[in-house]
Amino acid sequence: MFLASLLQFSRKTFCLASSHCMPVSVTMPEAPVSERGCCSSSIIIDGENKALEFIEEVTSNADAVQKRVLGEILSRSASVEYLQRHGLNGQIDRQTFKNVVPVVTYEDLKPDIDRLANGDTSPILCSQPISEFLTSSGTSGGERKLMPTIEEELERRSLLYSLLMPVMSQFVPGLDKGKGMYFLFIKSEAKTPGGLVARPVLTSFYKSSHFSNRPYDPYTNYTSPNETVLCPDSYQSMYSQLLCGLYQNTEVLRVGAVFASGFIRAIKFLEKHWLLLCNDIRTGTLDHKITDPSVREAVMKILEPNPKLADFIEAECSKDSWRGIINRLWPNTKYIDVIVTGTMSQYIPTLDYYSNGLPLVCTMYASSECYFGLNLNPLCKPSEVAYTLMPIMCYYEFLPVNRKNGFTDSFAKPVSLEEKENQDLVDLVDVKLGQEYELVVTTYAGLYRYRVGDILRVVGFKNKAPQFKFVCRKNVVLSIDADKTDEDELQNAVKNAADHLLSFDASLTEYTSYADTSTIPGHYVLYWEISLSGRAAAIPPSVFEDCCLSVEEALNSVYRQGRVSDKSIGPLEIKIVESGTFDRLMDYALSQGASINQYKAPRCVKYAPIVELLNSRVVANYFSPKCPKWVPGHKQWCTSQN
Ligand code: AMP
Repeated sequence: MFLASLLQFSRKTFCLASSHCMPVSVTMPEAPVSERGCCSSSIIIDGENKALEFIEEVTSNADAVQKRVLGEILSRSASVEYLQRHGLNGQIDRQTFKNVVPVVTYEDLKPDIDRLANGDTSPILCSQPISEFLTSSGTSGGERKLMPTIEEELERRSLLYSLLMPVMSQFVPGLDKGKGMYFLFIKSEAKTPGGLVARPVLTSFYKSSHFSNRPYDPYTNYTSPNETVLCPDSYQSMYSQLLCGLYQNTEVLRVGAVFASGFIRAIKFLEKHWLLLCNDIRTGTLDHKITDPSVREAVMKILEPNPKLADFIEAECSKDSWRGIINRLWPNTKYIDVIVTGTMSQYIPTLDYYSNGLPLVCTMYASSECYFGLNLNPLCKPSEVAYTLMPIMCYYEFLPVNRKNGFTDSFAKPVSLEEKENQDLVDLVDVKLGQEYELVVTTYAGLYRYRVGDILRVVGFKNKAPQFKFVCRKNVVLSIDADKTDEDELQNAVKNAADHLLSFDASLTEYTSYADTSTIPGHYVLYWEISLSGRAAAIPPSVFEDCCLSVEEALNSVYRQGRVSDKSIGPLEIKIVESGTFDRLMDYALSQGASINQYKAPRCVKYAPIVELLNSRVVANYFSPKCPKWVPGHKQWCTSQN
């Protein structure tokens, strides 16, 4: 097997030193920890070189590796129902595959995926048993998409993680001399009717032995004990991780979370709870709200009274300004490891403020479907981040897309896409510099020519492997955290909510939206222009509040989970604007060159002058009075959740 030979290669030749969520299982040395510790530095230097050589090798031979990956996937899957249905008949060559197997979306696969979720164990998509479902933040019909996965994929993810620190260490030496303070969390999981677990990919990873039984490695030495990461209660998890991070503050060399929004949430939590945290550090005790016995035990193994440190933290946190708080509390921090590409770029100014402009490092591009690639130049500016797709992870194809250029571009991204569907999809090594593509993958876990929904632009090459800037997620208009709300969903939610106005002889004439991240957590803002008939009675505030809640109830489960469980999204706000505001918006668009015939009010705005224009005409604003309903799992599984 190709992966097996890769793993053998890695075991023999390099130590899989890893980044924030990376396991070392693929290089797990046979030697016990103590033996490994005594010679770890030489192993690691060697390992780093081998990891870099490995990257050189697979990127130099990208096309051959891709051919081999596709051949391996197709020969393993020769007898699966899906490929038989399409008449592939066990053939493994690229051209036949492309001629016979269609390019699909999740909706096309949903009937097959539902069968798997309902307990059909026959080889429908993949010849290997489905080990669990990964619940994507992308949604279908308002529910998270379910991605079937196989045990072996954990190792493939581990392999990619293992390449991150060797890359990073080329640019920032000495990272093995201290710790990483990473805020990592698990999320709730559910059971499918067929009895398989359904959970987010990172929850699956942190709960696997790849993470929790990783042997000691200077590059996976974190301030957070595993028990604090694995605690299902988000308050206790965050509190204990911050406490351990503060307590070990001078040892911390890098800080991070998966997404920028998660890291900022941790800082906000600190702003609220630093007095309690300082009290625990001063006395060497743990606040009574931390009740999880395994968390208590793990933290108490680390914590001892340290009044001097508590005084220092208290003095810093009680200063008026929190500018540079990260550098002040963790003075040896060299960079912040968080994703700030895509919609997360909205958090860059806040991170710059809290860190006095420390480097923001985006290491990796991945999804529930498959992990894809890494950033080989991690200290570059966020706007220059390019991910090199690793040819070993899956078989890639690229659907060329052209974004419609024009006025809407300056309002909001993403904009609509013109797809050249009838044009052949392009292979990894054939993409063109500067061209944008939608990513299409064929994976070991049983996705064939699957449209991921991400738009990428080619900005360079590492040997023969292209490097991509993440442009946007197709159709998504609003996102604060993991949520991805598209235009249709927003339209339906707004339409239903606006019906509340009808009994007051009022109606919604125009609307747009804005992801407001100036508040922490960020929240969705809707700008509504309404028309009142002459007979309209004054509309009570409670009606608009009901409208806010009604929109939230209609949004997808990832949004509602963010509101209810993760508290990563604040209450939705409706801002009522003066009548004529949307005409002003159109005037502005026309003054910027938009065509009057083609003009449509944008359903989402980002461009600062437009947001200012809207805000200058707000006459009233209302917030959602409570959280929308959310329960783990899918609507249709309500009897089988755990
Ligand atoms: P999920 O399946 O919920 O893990 O979400 C995966 C999606 O998150 C990808 O398809 C991208 O849209 C987005 N994503 C993942 N990594 C990055 C990254 N480094 N930069 C921007 N967006 C990302």
